[in-house]
Amino acid sequence: MRRRNLALVLGAVAGHSPLSRADVAGRVGLTRAAVSSLVDELIGRGALTEAAATASGRVGRPGRALAVSGEGPAGLGLEVGVTHLGACVVDLRGEPRVWRRVERSNADRPAGRVLAEVAELAAEAEADATALGLRVEGRVLAVPGVVPNGPGGLVERAPNLGWHAVRVADHWPDPDTVPEPENEANLGALAEFWSAEQPVETFVHVSAGTGIGAALVIGGRLFRGARGFAGELGHIPVHPDGPGCACGARGCLEQYAGETAVLRGAGLAHHGPGDAATLLAERAGAGHAPTLAALDRAGRALGLALTSAVDLIDPDGLVLGGAYAELAEWLLPSVRAELADRVTVRPWTPEALRPSALGRRGPLLGAALTTVRRILADPTLLPAG
Ligand SMILES: [Zn+2]
Repeated sequence: MRRRNLALVLGAVAGHSPLSRADVAGRVGLTRAAVSSLVDELIGRGALTEAAATASGRVGRPGRALAVSGEGPAGLGLEVGVTHLGACVVDLRGEPRVWRRVERSNADRPAGRVLAEVAELAAEAEADATALGLRVEGRVLAVPGVVPNGPGGLVERAPNLGWHAVRVADHWPDPDTVPEPENEANLGALAEFWSAEQPVETFVHVSAGTGIGAALVIGGRLFRGARGFAGELGHIPVHPDGPGCACGARGCLEQYAGETAVLRGAGLAHHGPGDAATLLAERAGAGHAPTLAALDRAGRALGLALTSAVDLIDPDGLVLGGAYAELAEWLLPSVRAELADRVTVRPWTPEALRPSALGRRGPLLGAALTTVRRILADPTLLPAG
């Protein structure tokens, strides 16, 4: 009960600060004495701060403004991408305070080597956080792969990295700081949900990089499937006789709307090192006809696959994240056209499909915010002051 009330008070301040103790009592429907005791505990645990007396602007005694602490508890997010590594620290207010990204080709390098470098980056980010007065309370690692449900820290497979059954702890130098892996598409979707001013409760978040990942948020909760394998949109068939796919099947969405397929279609398959989405956006912006045609074809295939998602789960929204967010200008028309033609049995508006506001920052932000959201839901995770 106390745990629930601590979360209630912390949530009220997080959502509506600055509030005085009296304001909080009014909002959460507890007595002032009860709220004061809860506030004292939250201050002791480092979750809240209380400013010097300020007039609250209403009749009665001036209240002292409570706010979620910008120092102390923090979440560390880490990311292994196919072409980069990232680290981010967010404070309890959800503000990113440390942001590090290094370009690194991680495909087909030994997982141990890659994870050793992530661990170094993590240590640097934690040192930066410490210098800002922050204390990392949890660590989550975004990976472009399948992470089964349950404990164990296992990445079952990450085809674009060449990982099979990689247990993060087996390669992490310090047993006290091992991060918990999670699928990057799931984290991108959660970041979108947590950051939205008016979150949509049921939506599909599709993101692309080298592969295509989808995440389902249903009724405000991430749907991971019975084993954690939900959301493999990239391998939904869009053409039964289409080109062979790395997964062994034919005509998968990834063969039409994945980065490699779009580059090939645009005649840019052999471009040098560099970012595929940026290159495609440049060419499309300059009116390069083969690129525009390849993006149109990708959008059509994506629309076809998303029609199945709309018919199956009846979402309020569809979000294009990751590299797709940067290509939205050219993808949206054809995806919307396909959906408009096919989604005819239920109410559907073109605006329900939109690009992510976070774009490629989503997964890393989601990884860092995971710890913050856990603390907001259960402040007793923080050490007592
Ligand atoms: Zn496939």
